Amino acid sequence: MTDERLRKTVYSKLVAALALALMLALVSLIDPGAMPAGKLGGSRAPGVVIDPGHGGYDGGAQWGDVLEKDINLDISLQLRDILLAGGYRVALTRYGDYSLVEQAQTKKREDMIRRLAIIEDKAPDFIIVIHCNSMTSTRWSGGQTFSQHESEQGLELAKAIQHYFREFTATKRFASTLDHFLLRESNITGCLVEAGFLSNASDRELLQRPDYQRRIAAAVWLGIERYVRQRKEIEP
Ligand SMILES: [Zn+2]
Repeated sequence: MTDERLRKTVYSKLVAALALALMLALVSLIDPGAMPAGKLGGSRAPGVVIDPGHGGYDGGAQWGDVLEKDINLDISLQLRDILLAGGYRVALTRYGDYSLVEQAQTKKREDMIRRLAIIEDKAPDFIIVIHCNSMTSTRWSGGQTFSQHESEQGLELAKAIQHYFREFTATKRFASTLDHFLLRESNITGCLVEAGFLSNASDRELLQRPDYQRRIAAAVWLGIERYVRQRKEIEP
């Protein structure tokens, strides 16, 4: 194990231990399914809606029997626990392996519209959309964050999260931008997390491991914290 890898492992273990301690202290007080009503902003803890990509009939990217929808949900649930432990208000667009539409024929768009309705109902400060990548070439690897084109705050958030991806994982990627239905239509600061590539053997093995999923989740959490801190410096 190189010094670099050792450092990442130590960071990861520290973050996981901290998150777990916080979670154990707080979890009995919180209903994990609900985002308590209240005014956003000010000194209140931020509200976050997490969108685990795909679900139900829509498995997302697939490699053998590894389905993207399952990994997206696992990472999202780990992120939920960490954020709740940190005092955030959290909701998910789905909590299990289901689509938000009953049948495949009702199309992806309707599923996305229902996810958007959940986000608009919760009116969070942030949205985190969780996916995994897949390519025909197996050489691409590493986690990457994306913000909506022209969203300056979204890009700031994506960069803050990417900073911790680079700190805690082997990724050499940088934050980038794209056009994404939920980020665009909700107009809420957020980013899409592509946690890694199912088409890459090493990523695929890591992405199925709970400790690696927790590392990704912890990086997202610390990225949000970093973003909030940076905003406070600009607008105290
Ligand atoms: Zn996906």
